[in-house]
Order: sequence, then structure tokens, then C-alpha cells
Amino acid sequence: MDKICIDELKIFAHHGVFEHENVNGQNFFINAVLYVDTEKAGMRDDLSCSVDYSAVCALLERVMTANVFRLIEAAAQTAAEAVLREFPQVRSIDIEVRKPEAPIEMEFRSVSVKITRGWHRAMIALGSNKGDSRGYIEHAVEQLCACSHIRSVRCSELIVTKPYGYTEQDDFLNGAVMCETMLSPHGLLEFMQSVENSANRTREIHWGPRTLDLDLIFYDDEIISEPDLIVPHPDMHNRLFVLEPAAQLAPYYRHPVLGVTVGQLYERLKKK
Ligand code: AMP
Repeated sequence: MDKICIDELKIFAHHGVFEHENVNGQNFFINAVLYVDTEKAGMRDDLSCSVDYSAVCALLERVMTANVFRLIEAAAQTAAEAVLREFPQVRSIDIEVRKPEAPIEMEFRSVSVKITRGWHRAMIALGSNKGDSRGYIEHAVEQLCACSHIRSVRCSELIVTKPYGYTEQDDFLNGAVMCETMLSPHGLLEFMQSVENSANRTREIHWGPRTLDLDLIFYDDEIISEPDLIVPHPDMHNRLFVLEPAAQLAPYYRHPVLGVTVGQLYERLKKK
């Protein structure tokens, strides 16, 4: 991806954990790399096809001066989120907030925080078989749409399916969502669990009745194997109720472990 770079943007602001920093202020310097496809702008010589770096600098100044953060971590996070939200062509951003006048009683040149944030493609499976299932799933989609760290939400049709695993329970309503998120995989999982909890979700029987179940199916092409998070979801390829809505939304999404597309996984399992 092409890069637009901003070096050593000087901004006077009031961030710090000490009161005197919040009162007196000091100079901060920002370095940013914006990852943008500049091909069209380059071929047409047209700013409207690219990102106006002066507008980005003005936004960075607004974020830094309209807030008083205790931590430069918070300044960097808020600035990165603001750029990603206000400039949709920016796929990701590296940002460094530097504080050369930090209150350190030793000789030093500067302290800084460097972070990278960006938009990531995610697929989430939705299911419910308790209470107002359609209402709970619609509530989940509304919550995803309302989240300021998520954009471009697309929802599949909802389908009625037979229970899987523990079969002595009502039919399920299932669907899937594709979206873009600036949350990390764990950040997204935490948000999904808060949406489940807001739907009166209780965990009684494993694979048992639930008001709302959200599973993270894919996150970019990442492969994650951690105690609390496995991505791609380890059982998605055995579940027609995941593959059918997933194939409707993204038939060409390639499973990064199995190496085949969602459409192929769906056709294979249907034949079994
Ligand atoms: P359940 O709600 O029954 O689907 O199980 C949720 C548990 O599975 C949580 O404790 C998660 O930490 C864990 N988990 C592991 N991988 C995933 C995933 N890809 N999506 C959702 N939950 C996951």
C-alpha cells in the first residue's frame, strides 16, 4: 500500500499525568504514516482521489488541543481513530506522539508512543433460539452498526435451522454479518460478548438454548489459537448454519487454514 507521511508536526497541548502539565502545556510532535491507495490520484493528478494531508494535520491539531489526556497512549489512540473515521480512504495509520519535554529528571531526547491502527475485515455468525430470536438478532446487528469502531456492516438473510450438538431444544434462527472494524480480534470479541450480555444471555448448558450467540468466524486472514479465541472459528466448516449465510455474504472469502473458499466449503458440506 502507498504511504503519505507527516513528519514532526508540532502541536502545543496540555497532556500529562501531572497537574502542571495540564495547566502550563508543552510541545508535542506527531509523526504519521497514512496507508492509502494513491494510484488514481497519481494518474489523474487530482487531490479529490487522495487524502488532503493539510486536512489531516488540522484534524490532528483539533484532537490534540480539544482534549486533555493523561497519557500519550490515549492521545495516539484518539488521533488514529479520528483519522480512520474522517478519511475513509486511509486503510491504516502508524502514528507516533512524541513528548520531548516530558517530566523526567534526567537527560533525554524524547519519549514517545507509536501505534498502528487500521480497518480489518471481520465475519461474525449470529444465532438465537430462545425468546424473541429475530428481535435479539436485529438488536445485535443494530449494536454492531452503532459501534463507532465498526463500519460497512452487511447482514445475510436469517435462516431457521435445526439445533446442533445438544438437540433437545428449539430450532435456531441464524445469520452472518460482514463488517470492517478498527478493533483488534480480542477487542472485537469483548464487544461481541457485551452485545450477548445485553441480550440477557446466560450460559447454562454447553451448546444449549441461548438468546444470542455471536461467534467470530474470520478476521482478515489471521490465524489465532489462544485459550479464549480461535480464528477462523474451529468448527465453522462443519456447520451449515454458519456456511449458508457466510456463502451468501462472501462466497470468495478463502479460509486461511483450509485454503478453500466459503462457497466451496458450503457446497462440500451440503453434499455430505
Ligand atoms: P459460546 O458463546 O458458547 O460460543 O462460547 C464462547 C466462548 O468461546 C468464549 O469464552 C470465547 O472466549 C470462546 N471463543 C473461542 N474462539 C471464539 C470465536 N472465534 N468466537 C467466539 N468465541 C470464541
